Order: sequence, then C-alpha cells, then structure tokens
Amino acid sequence: MAKIRIALVGLGKIARDQHLPAIAASDAFELVGVASPHNRLDSVPSFTDLESLLQAVPDIAAVSLCTTPQVRYDIARLALERGLHVLLEKPPGATISEVVALATLAGKTNATLFASWHSRHAPAVEPARAWLAGRDIRGVTVNWKEDVRVWHPGQTWIWQAGGLGVFDPGINALSILTRILSGPLVLKTAALRYPRNCQTPIAAQLLFAGGNGAITRTELDFLYPGPPCWDIDVDTDAGRLSLSKGGGEMRLDGKPVSLPPAMEYPGLYAHFADLVRGRCSDVDLAPLQLVADAFLCGQRVEVDAFIE
Ligand code: NAP
Repeated sequence: MAKIRIALVGLGKIARDQHLPAIAASDAFELVGVASPHNRLDSVPSFTDLESLLQAVPDIAAVSLCTTPQVRYDIARLALERGLHVLLEKPPGATISEVVALATLAGKTNATLFASWHSRHAPAVEPARAWLAGRDIRGVTVNWKEDVRVWHPGQTWIWQAGGLGVFDPGINALSILTRILSGPLVLKTAALRYPRNCQTPIAAQLLFAGGNGAITRTELDFLYPGPPCWDIDVDTDAGRLSLSKGGGEMRLDGKPVSLPPAMEYPGLYAHFADLVRGRCSDVDLAPLQLVADAFLCGQRVEVDAFIE
C-alpha cells in the first residue's frame, strides 16, 4: 500500500521528540515537508508556513499540527479546505468552538480530522478501561504534578491566553480519565491559581462527579520539584486500580500488571493511518470541555509571579 505523504507543521519540542521518530518508524506515512516559522529540517523541504509548503511540494495528503494551540485553528482550516487529512496535537484547539468548526469542515471536505490525545495511547489505558468496565466506581484521585521549568523550558506561550497553563499537562490526565471511566464527568468545583504575571493558572484543584455520584479529586501542579507525578487511582467495588507514569504502569491493589510495550506516538500514528484509510474522523471533545468548564466556573486565586 502506498505511504501517506504527510507534512509536519510546527517543528518544536514534541515534533522533534515524538512525531519525527514515530513517522520515520511508520509503515503508513512518509514525511515530505515541514512548515515552521523559525525551524527547518535538512532532510525534507522546509518552509516558514503551510501555504508556501503546499505550493512547493505536490501531493501532500495529510498534515500533523504540532504548533502551539493558539495558532492551530487557522492552519487546520487551511489544510482541511485543501482537502488534506489533519492530525491535531492536544489540545485540539484554543476553544471548543474552533474544534467543532473544524469537525464540521472535515465532514464537508470528506477529510479525516483526528483530535489526538497521546496519553490515551499509553500502554495501561486500554487495560484499565477494560478492567473498570462494569465495576462500581467509589472514588478517583488524580495527581498530575511536574516542574514546568524542567518540562517546558522557555515555552512562554503556556502562560499566554489559550496556552492552558497547568492544564497543558493536566489535560493529559483528563484525556485518560474520560477514556477509562464509562460515565460522564461533571465539574463541581475548581480553584485555579494564577501567578500575578500570567494569564493562565500554575496550579488547580478540581472536583468532578461521575455518573453514579462518585467524586474525582484532581490536583494539578506546575511547580512540583523532583520527578514528576502523573498518577490516577480509581477505587472500585473490586479494589483499587492505580495508573502511574502517565498511564505507563498499572497496579491492582498494589500488584503490578504486565502491559504491552509503550508505543504512545507510534500507536497514535497507526490510529491516524486507519482513520485516513477509512475516511473517518475521531474528535472527542470531552477533555477540552472539562478544562473549559474549569475556566468558566473556577475560583481565581492570585499567587506569586512566575519567573522562569
Ligand atoms: P514548542 O516546543 O514551543 O513548539 C511549538 C512550535 O510551534 C514552535 O517550534 C513553533 O515553530 C511552532 N509554531 C508557532 N507558530 C506557528 C505557526 N504559525 N505555524 C507553524 N508553526 C508554528 O511546544 P511543544 O512542546 O512542541 O508543544 C506543541 C504542542 O504539542 C502543544 O499543544 C503541546 O501541548 C503539545 N504537546 C507537547 C508535549 C511536550 O512534552 N512538550 C507533549 C505532548 C503534546 P518555530 O520554532 O519554527 O517558530
């Protein structure tokens, strides 16, 4: 089967760390170009913007958008209008209305839109979902904490409107939660801590209620020293399921469960290839909706300025 000719838009940290290796290892995709304002790749034609790339390189079938979230919508729109299939890094947009508009456009152009959630491809996520199916959920605790200076050095866009602040990693936890729990989650309370000099929060405490009333307590922290903590514990009628390392490890009542090897981004691209070949889209807004709810209803607490 011919490879899908794909271009990468936004050659920053995640593009280099994960997307380039995953595309290089993929049987389904061939990287044919890059569009990024300041970065270039020597191995393929590189342009500062998608329009110039599309004019210069023929037959690009798909694009993977690894830009900052604030600029993603206009680029995705251009790509869909040209009939390209589009993979959106998370979060899929700066607003929910952007993503809804893109999904409608993809339907009209018969292109694939994949609003990807990379953490859902972590090895423990599907086993956790299967184990939890049909169980009575009694309560959930999420601790998603990391040191922003270590994991996002120099990424000033995170502190600007639309950059999500601590929800940039926190939305990964919500993408796992909304995949492994079967019922809806409803935001009950939120407290968001904003540094005096930032437009987005640096920490958050959230309380969600599940369909059966079980409470999910979520703590997000961007000033957490030392090794990161990306943990979810789910208490059920059959014991406790624990995910750690962002869905990389799973325990049942403290006993490790053996899992398939980690294939987060290769799995994400394999899913994109299936979607493109089946002319389907995959757009699940649930994680972004929970974040939007926190911004809508969250209590604002001002804290010390953040100086990197
Ligand atoms: P980053 O290192 O700051 O890279 C963002 C890139 O976006 C920059 O390199 C910039 O390109 C590019 N860009 C900005 N405006 C653009 C435009 N108009 N057209 C094309 N490219 C543009 O950020 P990142 O960490 O890679 O994060 C990017 C996205 O991936 C975010 O949504 C983030 O949530 C997600 N993500 C990040 C991680 C992570 O660990 N870092 C993990 C998973 C997902 P130039 O440098 O060329 O100007």
